Amino acid sequence: MTHCYECGAKLIPKELEGEGIIPYCPSCETFRFPIFSTAMSTTLLSPDRKKALLIQQYGRGRNVLVAGYVNKGENAEHAVVREIMEEVGLKVTHMVFVKSTYFAPSNTLMLHFLTVVEDEDLSHITKEVDKAQWFSLEDAQKAVITPSLAERFIKTAIGKLERGEIIPLPVDTENLWPAENK
Ligand SMILES: [Zn+2]
Repeated sequence: MTHCYECGAKLIPKELEGEGIIPYCPSCETFRFPIFSTAMSTTLLSPDRKKALLIQQYGRGRNVLVAGYVNKGENAEHAVVREIMEEVGLKVTHMVFVKSTYFAPSNTLMLHFLTVVEDEDLSHITKEVDKAQWFSLEDAQKAVITPSLAERFIKTAIGKLERGEIIPLPVDTENLWPAENK
């Protein structure tokens, strides 16, 4: 970001106490923190937690994770539950945050969650998805597109789960705080 997104003036580097050098708009007299998108992706497990779901989209014929952008005003947990319902028509029962990574090509902070869904029924796949398939936890890590952020995420999530470093917690769907500040 080289210019102010409000007034178009050229930004200058300026010291902000406790934050370091931040782009500053001399015209608006305001610091302009860099803007980026936030998205979520998920390693999605069957109720018995022995299988993981991979999907194919947009005619590409490659296995990826359920993922999507977090809407403005929405929290990440709500986006996870919403995207899973929108793409594969499954209801989340358990969830835990795994890891985040900034992905430069799309200027996006990716938040990765491990989720468990209510059943294995794939009859409610939506138009956004060409195909969805359950794999054993071992096979899913090999079947996902490689090399990719998705591959790193699913390996990290299953590794942490198997080592007992993360525990999926029950999701209170009544209390997900959707978009309060729209
Ligand atoms: Zn400005």
